[in-house]
Amino acid sequence: MLRDQYNRVHNYLRISLTDNCNLRCFYCMPEEDYAFMPAQQLMQQEEILALAKIFVANGVNKIRLTGGEPLVRKDAAAIIRALGALGVSLTITTNATRVHHFIDDFTVAGIRSVNISLDTLQSEKFQLITRRDQFTVVMDNIHLLLSKGFKVKVNVVVVKGLNDGEILDFIEWTKELPIHVRFIEFMPFDGNRWKSDKLVTLQEMIDLIALNYDITAAENDPHDTSKQFHIRNHAGSFAMISTMSAPFCSSCNRIRLTADGKIKNCLFSQEETDLLQALRSGQNVQELIEQSIYHKHKELGGQFSKNFELINANDLHNRSMIAIGG
Ligand code: SAM
Ligand code: SF4
Repeated sequence: MLRDQYNRVHNYLRISLTDNCNLRCFYCMPEEDYAFMPAQQLMQQEEILALAKIFVANGVNKIRLTGGEPLVRKDAAAIIRALGALGVSLTITTNATRVHHFIDDFTVAGIRSVNISLDTLQSEKFQLITRRDQFTVVMDNIHLLLSKGFKVKVNVVVVKGLNDGEILDFIEWTKELPIHVRFIEFMPFDGNRWKSDKLVTLQEMIDLIALNYDITAAENDPHDTSKQFHIRNHAGSFAMISTMSAPFCSSCNRIRLTADGKIKNCLFSQEETDLLQALRSGQNVQELIEQSIYHKHKELGGQFSKNFELINANDLHNRSMIAIGG
């Protein structure tokens, strides 16, 4: 069991397969030119598997693949299938531009639920946010996954003045389609132009939706980062991920492994532990994992408090989201 100094048990590992991506979402990639990691710096397929096995032997029973865009990696299918054989609950977060190439791999690996990022239901705005013309492919792949029986969760990063006017459109979308929409509060990362006044809070979103729809709060899993809601007479549902205005650190069970093989024990941690180097040089990886988890900060990587109005994004020390693995 991977337990930290605050007695939180960590059984959920998020592995970034690459920091590369075929989209350019402004909130995720730094503004200046971003240099993707050279291939030799990335964990190789067998290294990912070796590290994942150590985590599983220590109680990890859920693995999420992320990135960058995990499905741009050339050996993504082989990695997905190999991790699927570990007997954990395997899931993936993707921008869905390449999902149609991987349906069989998902099925063989036991992936039943796919998280997809989509911040707008308008094609032109999609291009503005991602700087790429892939809206139709993403929509088609959402429908493809639904037709194949996958559970589809759609992640929407809400940014004031950009897509907050579409919150109700997303709710309306769930009327006929069994989609679970997750509205995510905009978070500060290196170079992403975050300002507190661009944040739309959990409470603001709930108030808006409750004015227009008959909603009820659902039971939350103790480790859930999201607050779940049902909407009367809708096939789908929605949730809020309120990292900024109402963080969920006290029940956090998450560990992140970056594409270059470093543990981040928190999304906002400054400290990283290099497991890949340790694995390559024959050091005791297990001990490094235990130490990293044990020393996890009580909340928000020790970098800021719940009072998000006081945050100056330039004072935070972190990688950009694309380099962490969201
Ligand atoms: N490429 C995949 C995708 O877009 O789903 C996986 C990686 S992406 C970094 C993972 C998640 O992080 C996405 O849902 C994305 O919207 C979210 N994300 C990225 N930057 C964010 C930010 N600044 N605030 C909130 N969520 C963010
Ligand atoms: Fe790529 Fe996902 Fe980041 Fe967008 S959010 S740039 S799709 S990694």
